[in-house]
Amino acid sequence: MQSWGVSTHLTVTSSEQLTPRLRRLWFHSDDLSAFEGNESTDRYVKLVFPKPGVDYPQPLDMKALRGTIPPEDMPVVRTYTALFPDVAAGTLAIDFVIHGDEGIAGPWAAAAQPGDTLLANGPGGGYRPDPTADWFLFAGDESAAPAITAALADLPADAIARVVVLVDNAEHELPLPLPSGAEVTFVHRETGGDLVEAVRALEWPEGRVDVFIHGEGNAVMHGIRPYLLRERALTREQVSISGYWRLGRTEEGFRDWKAELAAAESAT
Ligand SMILES: Cc1cc2nc3c(=O)[nH]c(=O)nc-3n(C[C@H](O)[C@H](O)[C@H](O)COP(=O)(O)OP(=O)(O)OC[C@H]3O[C@@H](n4cnc5c(N)ncnc54)[C@H](O)[C@@H]3O)c2cc1C
Repeated sequence: MQSWGVSTHLTVTSSEQLTPRLRRLWFHSDDLSAFEGNESTDRYVKLVFPKPGVDYPQPLDMKALRGTIPPEDMPVVRTYTALFPDVAAGTLAIDFVIHGDEGIAGPWAAAAQPGDTLLANGPGGGYRPDPTADWFLFAGDESAAPAITAALADLPADAIARVVVLVDNAEHELPLPLPSGAEVTFVHRETGGDLVEAVRALEWPEGRVDVFIHGEGNAVMHGIRPYLLRERALTREQVSISGYWRLGRTEEGFRDWKAELAAAESAT
């Protein structure tokens, strides 16, 4: 379900440092009606970052702007998971990976203070845990931890789940809302831990699995997807898998990478 035409104005109200690399910002909006009826646990928004020095016509509308200003002046758009939207209270949270000085959204989130504002288009979303599955497999790096958190919170209290999260080291492990049948493995990249190997090493419970795996594109799409679809012979309906970002590429470069991958796959 997607509603990209709808723009929501967000104002930062507070922050929580969940781990050294993950900062949760809480936002308020006078109108979160765009979120009404969106049942996806991976619901995400397109955050709009105006280019400094460009005088945009107000209200800022990405669709209306396209074609009316030079492409290089268009605001930068970044994709983030929207957590805990409460339409009545007008609140939601976004967990940002703080990944250094490069980029737009990460550095913005690292410096954000109460009162700072953002425009969010959406939400979109495509996954919610399948209530008929026997067990659930969730995996990803910090960028997918918010969507994994939302999916875990949606499960029955006694659900069976295996969860693998790639983080820097033990200090970066984050609290997750685990049902009683869940086991979590934190993989530490600083000591050579690898998401693909950790997923492959899991012992599978009995029954039909529902999978949600997202994160760095190469690891997820080239490392884990063939394992699930070919070696484990899961159907595409059982598996929600995609890259959320690509090492060494901005989100624009990552979109090109995804398009190239899709074109290469449709040609084979
Ligand atoms: C559906 C969806 C949901 C997402 N949800 C979240 C979310 O809830 N929280 C979140 O933090 N991210 C999330 N992401 C990923 C996020 O959109 C990207 O990480 C994005 O590139 C960040 O933009 P930026 O401006 O900070 O960096 P960019 O300008 O895009 O990139 C600058 C540099 O930083 C590197 N970089 C980008 N992201 C990371 C990272 N996570 N770790 C290390 N290096 C990185 C790039 O490779 C590049 O070299 C989501 C992506 C998708 C598609």
